Amino acid sequence: EMKLGIIGLPNVGKSTLFNSLTKAGAESANYPFCTIDPNIGIVSVPDERLKLLGDMYQSKKVTPAVIEFVDIAGLVKGASKGEGLGNQFLSNIREVDAIVHVVRCFEDDNVVHVDGSVNPLRDIETINLELIFSDLEVLERRISKAAKAARMDKTCAKELALLERLKEHLESGSPAKTMEAGDEDESLLLKEYNLLTGKPVIYAANVAEEDLADDGASNAKVSEVREFAEKEGGEVFVICAQIEQEISELDEDEKAMFLEDLGLKESGLEKLIKASYRTLGLMSFLTAGEDETRAWTIKIGTKAPQAAGKIHSDFERGFIKAEVVNYRDLLEQGSLAAAREKGLVGIEGKDYVVRDGDVILFRFNV
Ligand code: GDP
Repeated sequence: EMKLGIIGLPNVGKSTLFNSLTKAGAESANYPFCTIDPNIGIVSVPDERLKLLGDMYQSKKVTPAVIEFVDIAGLVKGASKGEGLGNQFLSNIREVDAIVHVVRCFEDDNVVHVDGSVNPLRDIETINLELIFSDLEVLERRISKAAKAARMDKTCAKELALLERLKEHLESGSPAKTMEAGDEDESLLLKEYNLLTGKPVIYAANVAEEDLADDGASNAKVSEVREFAEKEGGEVFVICAQIEQEISELDEDEKAMFLEDLGLKESGLEKLIKASYRTLGLMSFLTAGEDETRAWTIKIGTKAPQAAGKIHSDFERGFIKAEVVNYRDLLEQGSLAAAREKGLVGIEGKDYVVRDGDVILFRFNV
């Protein structure tokens, strides 16, 4: 399950965004644990294909893929030194797959900015420095351990060199994710360190309503954020948290009209979900039947047995073959039997790479 952490300076619109995302996304998924922690929200991934397949099979249950959002407040200048809510919050970030970094690009005299003016690049730098400081602390501990180990065991010298190089990289103000690994070992180690600045970041440029229609193109501050993100290989998505909040209170029909009035094709939640899938290299496949029609999230490039393992580990262990049909073909034919007859259902083995939109029936030994 994908987990995204929402971070940013105070008063940039994090809570407004978090509340609207979780409200908009909680409707269709009935997850009782949503309410355990007010800072964690489970959001279902909107997926038109599921509804169509569920209708065709008259499924008892239609289960969307879900994303967990965590509202990580309390990041301020000095957080890595224990200022504000400090280190506890930094450790919450350690657990997420990707970071949604909200930056304020809207002017509003009624909303105070912690540093006195709206300046997204300065804000990004403030937050990123805190993340770097926190990573440097982790590195210092690893370096002193590795230095001791290297005295006894020559093979540790290589890791020590990597750690030193990484430290220099961070000290120059660059995030861990832009450091190039020398080889496969190094790249594994870099993953294992699980550094905050090693995580993919999606920047959420929070703009005024007027800037929504052209996706922030005429807002110079948004352009600055885009330029910055490009250098890191990160994505930017433009939202207006206030409008998202309004959207989250509408039903489906009203929502479609409201978006059209604003000149928008999709809500912020939809944009964010797409950006997250792209950033993390994810896609989904489907299973369909009378009992349940369901979307499953996997990494692009996942092979059939591992995809089956998402459903149940027995499916992966006992994998025999997969019957695969594209959801469009299945819908057009009206049943799996009809699709089979037309030769649209492939019988695939363990080397089959699953594609987005595949509807799969796994055959396995128990
Ligand atoms: P957080 O501290 O980052 O969680 O920020 P909040 O979500 O609590 O927002 C801080 C203030 O900014 C609140 O008064 C919001 O209503 C306001 N705000 C949030 N998003 C927008 C926006 O898109 N436009 C405007 N004008 N105000 C916003």
